Amino acid sequence: MKKIYHMERITAITNARIFDGERVINDQTIVINGASISAVGSAVPAGATLVNAQGATLLPGLIDAHVHTSLDGLRNALAFGVTTELEMLGYWTTQDRKEAAERDDVADFRSAGMGITAPGGHPSELVSGDEDPRADAEHQPAYDDHNFIAPFASTPEEATDFVAKLVANGSDYIKIMIEEGSVFGAPGLPMLNNDTIVAAVRAAHHYGKLAIAHTLTVASTQQAIAAGMDGLAHLFIDRSHTSELVTTIAESGAFVTPCLVLNSSIMGRPATELAADERVSSKMSQTWLDTLRSSFNTFPQGNFDDVLATVAALHKAGVDILVGTDVSPLPLPHLGGLAHGASVHHELQLLVEAGLTPIEALRAATSVPARRFGLTDRGHIAPGARADLLLVDGDPLTNIADTLSIRAVWRRGV
Ligand SMILES: [Zn+2]
Repeated sequence: MKKIYHMERITAITNARIFDGERVINDQTIVINGASISAVGSAVPAGATLVNAQGATLLPGLIDAHVHTSLDGLRNALAFGVTTELEMLGYWTTQDRKEAAERDDVADFRSAGMGITAPGGHPSELVSGDEDPRADAEHQPAYDDHNFIAPFASTPEEATDFVAKLVANGSDYIKIMIEEGSVFGAPGLPMLNNDTIVAAVRAAHHYGKLAIAHTLTVASTQQAIAAGMDGLAHLFIDRSHTSELVTTIAESGAFVTPCLVLNSSIMGRPATELAADERVSSKMSQTWLDTLRSSFNTFPQGNFDDVLATVAALHKAGVDILVGTDVSPLPLPHLGGLAHGASVHHELQLLVEAGLTPIEALRAATSVPARRFGLTDRGHIAPGARADLLLVDGDPLTNIADTLSIRAVWRRGV
């Protein structure tokens, strides 16, 4: 019996064009054994379940490097081939975390847990009272001396202390807010002072965690880089880039997750076209579709062409660009233009519009985030890697929009 069960867990995908996370390889067959890829380019083992991928392209499961999520968000993400979401601020009860780890119908995730911000600072301005999850008694965060959107720090000592608490509560990396509010229509927001920011970065590094900054302006980006951040979870969008700033970012080694889909929404552009795509609308609830058709519209004076040019300049300078969306856990029209999973495909399209080749955009959603976040078991198609896979009709290496023509998704081999 045992042997038969084992045999049932072997799947061979044949005749596929394979993008392995870095490049298109010559092999056309992979073998999945249980939760992992056991072979690439080998003969098909006897008794394996066959998946003929003629006319299709096999990719590593996609990674969204900037989300705020929930079990529903993770389920929607997986339906779009996003097998890992990296949460940049959020909270999880032990029960929900356990459920997410056990279920096969939700994406895997990592989380910063709470972010570090100033009293009354970002993202308070985006969260109204009735959306505050503290209202839900069953979803109390694990930290009883800090509130959900108020893990406030005013001094270096408080920041150091808070990082220790986050790490003890399982934060996979540390998110630090540097946001003065102008692109969210709330200029003059309270901000962390520079010593506190520097202390938070130092504390993150003390625990071997990445320090990741929320910055959407040139000034906050300069501050983040000077403080030694490992990555920027956003792109500056208040002004066009200068070669000096691009060089500063490139020399720091920090990665950038531009979240073009968010920037587009902030500038008042709803994701109407995406929502009208049958490959999207067929997989999404009406509420999420309505959210996609809406937008933040808090900085309509921004110039999206400048934003695309900034991404092109950073990419050309050798900065690691990561696919991220900044989608919220719930469908809220005032945080619109974004949806779990679907927006990753939109981001890939916008990166290509910015000037990345399709293969460079696909790396930004697979091997690059895996490398930057130390996720050594994914982001690649190779023997031993997690069997997180996306099979799409057509050739997204030529036409990036083909990533939406989803034929199948595997998560941990299922
Ligand atoms: Zn965010």
